[in-house]
Amino acid sequence: MTDLTRTAFPKHPDGTVEKIAIDTLVVGAGQAGVAMSEHLGKLGVPHLVLEKNRIAEAWRTGRWDSLVANGPAWHDRFPGLEFDLDPDAFAPKDQVAEYFEAYARKFNAPIRTGVEVKRVVRNADRPGFTVETSEGLIEASRVVAATGPFQRPVIPPIAPKDEKITQIHSAEYRNPQQLPEGAVLVVGAGSSGVQIADELMRAGRKVYLSVGAHDRPPRAYRNRDFCWWLGVLGEWDAEIAKPGREHVTIAVSGARGGQTVDFRALAHQGMTLVGLTKSFNDGVATFQADLADNLARGDENYLALLDAADDYIARNGLDLPEEPEARKTYPDPECVTNPILELDLAEAGVTSIIWATGYAVDFSWLQVDAFDAKGKPQHQRGVSTEPGIYFLGLPWLSRRGSSFIWGVWHDAKHIADHIATQRKYLAYRDASQRQAEARPDSPVQKVSTLGVS
Ligand SMILES: Cc1cc2nc3c(=O)[nH]c(=O)nc-3n(C[C@H](O)[C@H](O)[C@H](O)COP(=O)(O)OP(=O)(O)OC[C@H]3O[C@@H](n4cnc5c(N)ncnc54)[C@H](O)[C@@H]3O)c2cc1C
Repeated sequence: MTDLTRTAFPKHPDGTVEKIAIDTLVVGAGQAGVAMSEHLGKLGVPHLVLEKNRIAEAWRTGRWDSLVANGPAWHDRFPGLEFDLDPDAFAPKDQVAEYFEAYARKFNAPIRTGVEVKRVVRNADRPGFTVETSEGLIEASRVVAATGPFQRPVIPPIAPKDEKITQIHSAEYRNPQQLPEGAVLVVGAGSSGVQIADELMRAGRKVYLSVGAHDRPPRAYRNRDFCWWLGVLGEWDAEIAKPGREHVTIAVSGARGGQTVDFRALAHQGMTLVGLTKSFNDGVATFQADLADNLARGDENYLALLDAADDYIARNGLDLPEEPEARKTYPDPECVTNPILELDLAEAGVTSIIWATGYAVDFSWLQVDAFDAKGKPQHQRGVSTEPGIYFLGLPWLSRRGSSFIWGVWHDAKHIADHIATQRKYLAYRDASQRQAEARPDSPVQKVSTLGVS
């Protein structure tokens, strides 16, 4: 088979691109695509990974300049390679990108960058799929969509139409200098929103942070990072979000060595907290009166983890130092006891709004029967309802950890196993077929799957 990772797609003498056949096509070479390739390779499944930009592009250009991983280097990695870092440090985003590139190099992953998959359709008269790419057509028996959990930045329709105010999504935020002089309203206080708000405040900006429902684990407790606690307590493996908590963000940060996100502490340092952003009318933002409640629920989540950790330590007789100061809280600041429900943006000097309001997926290129009426992928642990189509890297694909670095690696393993098993079924021949194939003059090929190298 032509090695497509190194050469151009093969061409006919008239210059048109030949159609290429491959067993499994993986779309996207972020961490999900790299993990998928590793597992497919180990199982001997011929495959190709197509990436429209570069390996781990989201970590290179899709995030702000100062971002570091939210989890420590010992945790946020694949099993086969360690970061060249103190294991308790938080890798800067560029180092994360380099890590995945090095990882792919380690096993010579068949990744072709700079090729976009434009359309995938099921073949009508034969098995498999026809894939239109920016370089030509591919026939694939199977397609793994590894295009990421966070593809399309979402800004809610309440965003004001006021052209005087600079508005960007957190995906476009790079650094404080990028914003015009003046105060900033950051809407959304998950990991992105709270880290961006903190960075802006430290750069001397007046910051308003709109805080909705959130989980707020301690960065570390009793000498163990929260990633460790979520692991030993089985929380990364939770298969479904607790009812009512499906869309709750997690406020955690590895910035400046990693500190617990504490909204009251931020308020005492000068940040103004407001509740959920409700609307914008004539330059006035309105907020729900839910700030105290949102903080209280975040505290509950925080304290529940401390309790579960204490309990785990006691049950297992672990010798980990006590940390009573972790239970101390700052008094409620003025913005909590006397919440702002309306803010005249011009009067408050707000010149920009950052929407840290999350992302949606975009599978418009995947034109197969694997989605419900609302366009949501239908699958079981990534194995879709359309035979031969797989999803990887989506939030809660199989468990809470699915969209995170370590979690996607395990999901990829499951999907690769499924693909290898399907290939075994398809390779089965009954006795008469085996006899026919054994004849020296047999025209029958031994393997009927597409493009086996
Ligand atoms: C701000 C932020 C911080 C995060 N920090 C952490 C962290 O510290 N630890 C952690 O475990 N997780 C973290 N995550 C979550 C997750 O690890 C990342 O979102 C990660 O990038 C997801 O990897 P992925 O491979 O699934 O998707 P992506 O990294 O988005 O990769 C998908 C790839 O598919 C390509 N692609 C898309 N469409 C096509 C197409 N049609 N044809 C060809 N290629 C295509 C894209 O170019 C992209 O490179 C963070 C997420 C965000 C937003």
